[in-house]
Amino acid sequence: MNKLYTVYLFIIMFLFSFNSQAKLNIMTTTTNLKSVVEFIGGNKVHVESICKGTQDPHYLEAKPSYILKAAKADLLVSVGLGLEIGWLPLIIRGARKPQLRPGNEGSFIAGEYIDVLEKPKGGVSRADGDVHPEGNPHFMLDPKNALIIAEKIKDKLKKMDPENSKEYESNFKSFSKKMNAKIKNWKERVKAGKKVITYHKTLTYFFHRFGIKNISILEPKPGIPPSASHILNVMKKAKKEGVKLALVENYFDPTVAKRVARDVKGLKVEIIPVAVGGEPNIRNLFDLYERLISAIEEK
Ligand SMILES: [Zn+2]
Repeated sequence: MNKLYTVYLFIIMFLFSFNSQAKLNIMTTTTNLKSVVEFIGGNKVHVESICKGTQDPHYLEAKPSYILKAAKADLLVSVGLGLEIGWLPLIIRGARKPQLRPGNEGSFIAGEYIDVLEKPKGGVSRADGDVHPEGNPHFMLDPKNALIIAEKIKDKLKKMDPENSKEYESNFKSFSKKMNAKIKNWKERVKAGKKVITYHKTLTYFFHRFGIKNISILEPKPGIPPSASHILNVMKKAKKEGVKLALVENYFDPTVAKRVARDVKGLKVEIIPVAVGGEPNIRNLFDLYERLISAIEEK
């Protein structure tokens, strides 16, 4: 009997010690942010992303399952710049957790730390249904921006969980060392000035980093489907500029790009992932950038 009692006591003590080391529960809106948090948080955090890598983050349904997950989160990491405006406020409200609201301790809005490209002149604009009202929100496609966010996430985790500060610090060091070395290699492989067409302005920051020219965009405005006259203009421009590559983000319909390619001699259409998990073998940000570089490098 005594022996059994000791065993029980041991089990209870074990469970308690396990509980005291509970991981930080982090929810991100996108898989690209999730990847950064995973690199910095390592095994001290549990991370889940609301949007899958194969989904368009502009349009998501605020499902009850997301609300339940948000209710358990210690920290909500979002993109900001109006990207999640159609669905995230509903999730935060539904979760009834004031700490996750913007400005509170459980909120981290990555867009606040970035030099935003394509900011509309004269402030916020949703004119004609433009889904980039506060500038281009796809900044995580630039690996340098991933480094900026990684550092801010490191600071945030240290603040929320000071006990594991050293670990977050060393995870950040190895992440930035690897990323800087990769950026150097990627720059060497890409021919600056290369001309491409895309469907949406998803790769703006990536092109900006690597000196790629986005000659035409199939959407006349972010979030607006291409009209017949706009498609004709894209074709004209592609011919004039001698564009050889059209990149279509894989959550958009490639039909229009393929139609353009039928008319523009030598134009190749490539369907690409733009988020971690966008293709089964894209498991983290390094895989994603590598995939994008290999899509545009001269072979
Ligand atoms: Zn967009």
